[in-house]
Amino acid sequence: MKRALFLDRDGILNIDKAYVCRFEDIEWVPGIFDLIQFANANHLLVIVLTNQSGVAQGMYTEADVIKLHDEMKSFLKLKNLHVDDWFYCTEYDSERRKPRPGMMIEAQQKYNIDLSKSFMVGDKATDILNIKGPQTFLLKGNYSLDVVEQNKSAEIFNSLEDVLSRIKKEFN
Ligand SMILES: [Mg+2]
Repeated sequence: MKRALFLDRDGILNIDKAYVCRFEDIEWVPGIFDLIQFANANHLLVIVLTNQSGVAQGMYTEADVIKLHDEMKSFLKLKNLHVDDWFYCTEYDSERRKPRPGMMIEAQQKYNIDLSKSFMVGDKATDILNIKGPQTFLLKGNYSLDVVEQNKSAEIFNSLEDVLSRIKKEFN
C-alpha cells in the first residue's frame, strides 16, 4: 500500500484570493515547492483535494478548473515537481465536498493508499475530513482555527516550512 500527501489547493498550493480560476492569478504559497519535492523524493503520492463551488455558483466553469490545473501541472513540471492527481468537487450537495471524505476515498481506492500512514494539509477546519486515518496539518492564517485549537483535531502550523519539518519527523 502507498502513502499519500493530500493537499488542499487554495491556501496551500496557491494563495487563497477567493475563487481563483485563472493561472495569471496563481501566486504560489511559500514552501509549497519544497513540500512537494520532499514527497516526490520519499515515495509519497501527492494528491490535491479541492472544493470548487465557484462552478456551482456560476463564477467559472468546470473546464476552467481543468485548464487551470493543467497549467499548474505544467508549471510544476518545469521545476521537476510532480502532483500525482487532482480531485475537485464543484457541487455543494455532494459526498465529495470536504469535509465529507468522498474525494479522499476515491483516491484511496484508485491508488491503494494506506490512509493511516498519510497526511492531509489544509488551511480550514473543513480540511479535517470525516474519515479515520490521515494526520491533518493545518496552516494558520486564512481562516479561524479556534475550534480546532480547542478540540485538538489537527496540528496547526504557521508556515509550510513548519509543516514539512513535522512531516519529516514521520520519516526518521
Ligand atoms: Mg483552502
